Amino acid sequence: MRVVLTGFRGTGKTTVGKILAAKLGLPFVDTDRLIEDRVGRKIPRVFREEGEIGFRRMEREAIASLPGGDSVVSAGGGAVIDPVNVENLRRGSLVFLLQAGEETLSARIGMSDRPSLTGRPVAEEVGELLRERRPAYLRAADFCVSTESATPEEVADLIEGILRDGPAMPGHREAGLALIEKIPMDGGEREVLASVLSRKAGVPLGLCGIAGYPCSHSKSPVLWNRLFARYELPYHYTALEWPNIGEVVGAARELGIRGLSVTIPFKEKVMPFLDTIDPEAREIGAVNTVVQCGGVLRGYNTDWVGIRTPVEDLGGAQAVVLGAGGAAAAAVYALRSLNMEVTVLNRTEENAVRLAARFGVHAGPLSSFRDIHPDLVVNATSVGMDPDRSSLLAAGDLEKEMTVFDLVYTPPETPLLAIARSAGCRIIAGTEMFIHQAREQFFHVTGIRVPEGLARELV
Ligand code: NAP
Repeated sequence: MRVVLTGFRGTGKTTVGKILAAKLGLPFVDTDRLIEDRVGRKIPRVFREEGEIGFRRMEREAIASLPGGDSVVSAGGGAVIDPVNVENLRRGSLVFLLQAGEETLSARIGMSDRPSLTGRPVAEEVGELLRERRPAYLRAADFCVSTESATPEEVADLIEGILRDGPAMPGHREAGLALIEKIPMDGGEREVLASVLSRKAGVPLGLCGIAGYPCSHSKSPVLWNRLFARYELPYHYTALEWPNIGEVVGAARELGIRGLSVTIPFKEKVMPFLDTIDPEAREIGAVNTVVQCGGVLRGYNTDWVGIRTPVEDLGGAQAVVLGAGGAAAAAVYALRSLNMEVTVLNRTEENAVRLAARFGVHAGPLSSFRDIHPDLVVNATSVGMDPDRSSLLAAGDLEKEMTVFDLVYTPPETPLLAIARSAGCRIIAGTEMFIHQAREQFFHVTGIRVPEGLARELV
């Protein structure tokens, strides 16, 4: 297994990396040194002569050429901003983000003989770059380790411990396992999980999963496990079908689960159990993605990206959202981000009014659909989901200029989409939302941008 250390300048990547490599008996590679050796110039000179763009190009080439196999790699401080570097660094590797506070970093960098790269005062440069890069660092890491008040030897010991014992919180593994044992799953899956969680050699070290009730029918495990195989990430993804989301999040903390997809009925209920919530998820009022790093659980919403991406070409359109639940809130947020004029129509009108008021859009009963003549219709209700064979709209409600997007994805062509197709409308299936929200979710958990075609092929 290759071990990659990332983090800002001054977090101790090189010092810790050398100690760790010696402890593990592995070669040590510093990507900055690799670049210097390849181009025969020191990095500050490369920055002066080629600018940051030239340096990043060389860094990309150097990282792409890193040998696979067992080694300890220290990656340059800005390397993980580029998702292509993340993909190359993560392949067959575990990535540890070394962290320290702004003041500590400024003090450490101030004492080093390498000048600031931007020519600005060190503290200013550190503060700004850290804020800019933090999301990329968190996405690209499997584990976050603080070097704030630990010696490099202690940090190397900690990393060695994680490599040996796995990501579970020391002393809490048994409590997390107790929940996993209660969750119904087939024998083969239970065996895979047991080998992952008992740290058997040669099996994935990390776990991700979907929390929902029910969720055993979800397409997510197949897609994610195929993506893990494709990118050679040492992870297994499983369905955690359990009625108590607090217990699932508790087990995720205890077992060091890296990423959770969250589905019905927990997208709102999960929020109080998390440590931080992304501003977009807070505005929508729902979390469908949880990412853990260094014991901190962060919540995101990627449903709105899944709704926005397929209709990006319709900016400024007049849109109707059918439904007023969690998916409808993500839809309204997505369509407003494209400057659409939105009306929420719902069976229970007061729920439509409440949702519309949160986003400053219009609301009404389902019966007012024919008065609106929208360009886009989004079905965000569960009507038409297997085994239901009904549709909220009839052929006479639709005009051929309309685009009809059904968020329901089982079956792939819902009764509403079949009616819309016959009426000559452009139709968008719920699998589109699934694919795009999953690509965004995978990006939050791994830092890798999955090409659209690959996601489609693997679903
Ligand atoms: P939710 O919070 O339970 O909301 C359900 C909505 O459907 C409510 O507005 C409800 O109206 C309405 N509804 C239910 N039965 C109805 C009926 N018989 N007639 C009229 N309206 C009815 O569910 P959600 O989380 O928003 O999810 C909604 C759907 O989105 C799901 O069923 C799922 O298929 C789809 N979805 C798809 C993806 C994807 O990746 N493609 C992701 C997430 C969700 P009331 O307010 O009157 O109860």
